[in-house]
Amino acid sequence: MKIMELIFILTYECNFRCTYCDIDKRDESISQKLLQDSIVFLEKNNFPIKKVKFFWGEPLLKKDYIKYIIANFPKSYNPDFYITSNSTLIEDQFIAFIEDNNVKLTFSLDGDIETTSVNRLLQNWKNLSQEIIKNSEKYSNLIRVNQVITSKNAKDFFKNFLFIYNLWVTRFNFLPEYYAEWSKEGLGNLKRWFHEIKRFYNEGNRFELINLENYSKVAFFNLGIIIDTDWKIYGTNLILSWIFEKYKKDLVIGDIHNWLNYDIHDKEFNLHYQSKINRFINKEYSPVILKSVKYVDLILNDFCYKFHN
Ligand code: SF4
Repeated sequence: MKIMELIFILTYECNFRCTYCDIDKRDESISQKLLQDSIVFLEKNNFPIKKVKFFWGEPLLKKDYIKYIIANFPKSYNPDFYITSNSTLIEDQFIAFIEDNNVKLTFSLDGDIETTSVNRLLQNWKNLSQEIIKNSEKYSNLIRVNQVITSKNAKDFFKNFLFIYNLWVTRFNFLPEYYAEWSKEGLGNLKRWFHEIKRFYNEGNRFELINLENYSKVAFFNLGIIIDTDWKIYGTNLILSWIFEKYKKDLVIGDIHNWLNYDIHDKEFNLHYQSKINRFINKEYSPVILKSVKYVDLILNDFCYKFHN
């Protein structure tokens, strides 16, 4: 049976407003009752889930929910837990919980203060960016970093990588911006600096590349069992994006109070579901953006392949 991942959408809210984030931020969160029902749903089923992820909105707005899920997750699954956060709501007590439960924690950090601030649409952006940098350094031995690279900041990609590396961070997930238009120059810079990062590694500077852990058959978006705040279950987290919310009814695969409507292990179903996702993506994005996605994906995959071989 194919290993799957489970994503809990705990909330659509976030204390940030990043320029590259498509989530329709709003005051909508899962309830305690639905969390309990989700655990019962998982107990009754036996999915081959090995990864449970919390990300998109800001999961640390719901720390108690994360603690509840991890403490009560059916023991028969024994999955790894992953949190991706902007880091500004972290504190030592929660870090202790993370360590005790061996949770993999990722902070999103684009680079130095100027680069990180550019993509955060906040009034007190400088303080918050400083906060992310401070937290990344403080917990560097524990965390992974999502370094977001955009067409614009790609010129400083390597400089920003070194900045993060010098905070003693040793686990990197490089995340070029997907579903955005990239200039020729931006793509050239992306390729060039990936090459430089590989050279830096070959010189004996040690860090881990964790991109392959996040591989998905649909560029950028995850596939699996996604439990939404409204008790419905989807096969992709594409539905978090405001652009694709209108397709929710076409992408729903069940709800936590009933059995799934489909056999998610069925090859035919999966092929059909993925082609439906691709159809929606092709409908919503311009050919120029789709072309950029292809190039970005190609450059990133090429780097990952070379890095690991
Ligand atoms: S921190 Fe994450 S969830 Fe929040 S706005 Fe930025 S990208 Fe979106």
